[in-house]
Amino acid sequence: MTHTKNIDVIIAGAGAAGVFAAIRIKELNPSISVVILEKSARILDKVRISGGGRCNITNAETNLERFAEAYPRGKYFMRKSLYKFGPADILNWFKINGLETHTEKDGRIFPESNTSASVIHCFTEKIHQFKIDIELKNGLEKIIRNEELFQVETPNNTYLCKALLLCPGGNAIESFRNILNPFGVQFEDPLPSLFTFNTLDKSFANLMGLSAEVSLNIAGTKFQESGPLLITHWGYSGPVVLRCSAFSARELAKKNYNFSIRINWMPASTQDELRSNFMHFKSHSGKRMLRNSSPEGISSRLWEALLLRAGCNPDQTWNEINQKSINKLVETLTADTWEIRGKTTFKEEFVTCGGIKLNDLIPENYMLKKCPGLFAAGEIIDVDGITGGFNFQNAWTGADLAAKGIINYLNQSG
Ligand SMILES: Cc1cc2nc3c(=O)[nH]c(=O)nc-3n(C[C@H](O)[C@H](O)[C@H](O)COP(=O)(O)OP(=O)(O)OC[C@H]3O[C@@H](n4cnc5c(N)ncnc54)[C@H](O)[C@@H]3O)c2cc1C
Repeated sequence: MTHTKNIDVIIAGAGAAGVFAAIRIKELNPSISVVILEKSARILDKVRISGGGRCNITNAETNLERFAEAYPRGKYFMRKSLYKFGPADILNWFKINGLETHTEKDGRIFPESNTSASVIHCFTEKIHQFKIDIELKNGLEKIIRNEELFQVETPNNTYLCKALLLCPGGNAIESFRNILNPFGVQFEDPLPSLFTFNTLDKSFANLMGLSAEVSLNIAGTKFQESGPLLITHWGYSGPVVLRCSAFSARELAKKNYNFSIRINWMPASTQDELRSNFMHFKSHSGKRMLRNSSPEGISSRLWEALLLRAGCNPDQTWNEINQKSINKLVETLTADTWEIRGKTTFKEEFVTCGGIKLNDLIPENYMLKKCPGLFAAGEIIDVDGITGGFNFQNAWTGADLAAKGIINYLNQSG
């Protein structure tokens, strides 16, 4: 039998943003009653599996302007928010609460234990300390504005609350678009971000696992990134591909994930420099075999594959190849075009772009402009980051600012 419960704050979603927001509200004002409604049977599920089970909680970039550059959507919004609660603040919070962290060479920050279980343990300790009520298998289904209160409906109950925070994550964007329709809240369409590219031509599949420093361009667009590229059995992955997929997520969806990429395997050299290097080989080391002349930074296996791709026989000597072949080799090394047909989900981390339009949110407190008392944070809003801990930072930042916003709202509304 259902009955109506009266609560100060209801939070929908016991993920990273929802749990952290509940804890922050209780830390700042323990007298506020908070209930988290969670649709699934478990809390913090994505935290558990995140970062390959290690949970990359944030990033070591200390320049907040540069930190904000990691958000293909929400850069300006995050730039403001990060100054109020940024990576140093979440690290400090974890430290105070007993979670030590370490930073890897690429800037990713993980718990010292290298397991997400430590992050979950840290949060569950706080949940018990503040006796935060979490109702599992009890997802929010409907919201009705009931004078100054929100009436929240779940399969099990009806609740009345003064403030409502929505943290249902990126997978819930479509359902919340319907739930929030009566409030006139605008959404950007949800789409996948952070994926890898499937090549039509699988001739490099035998090089699977090999990585190279390249520059990569989505042909016919402005999207260009430099960094490590990883060859996989289905095509290309690695940081450079993930960055490209994130920054061009909307454009690639419009192309139905059928597009061309251009790889510069030797971004440190110009075409003229390469051409003159090869001419030098021809005149000074003409008897040397092509396969024995791999340029610096290109492994011998990759070099051989690139020679074949350029139509050169690796067993030929430099004397045996003509200017036309050298030109073709230079073109393959600097503008190697591959047809992409489809994408593959990145196993370590994937994220949904889209969600509540940022114009509908007050950046200082994450409250919906059209609906005082209704707040949203985490992946449900139209902010998403590249890999490296930026997506969790969005969750921590939004949760903290929404928690403070809710407390102010409750104080003002009496
Ligand atoms: C495999 C994987 C690995 C990742 N690794 C990293 C990483 O290492 N570092 C990083 O920064 N980011 C990582 N991410 C991204 C990161 O996990 C998310 O951006 C982050 O969890 C978003 O937090 P959130 O609280 O908004 O949503 P979530 O963590 O998804 O939580 C939302 C919660 O709301 C619940 N919910 C949904 N609908 C309702 C409803 N109607 N009522 C009530 N509850 C509802 C869901 O069941 C869920 O528990 C990873 C993502 C994936 C998929």
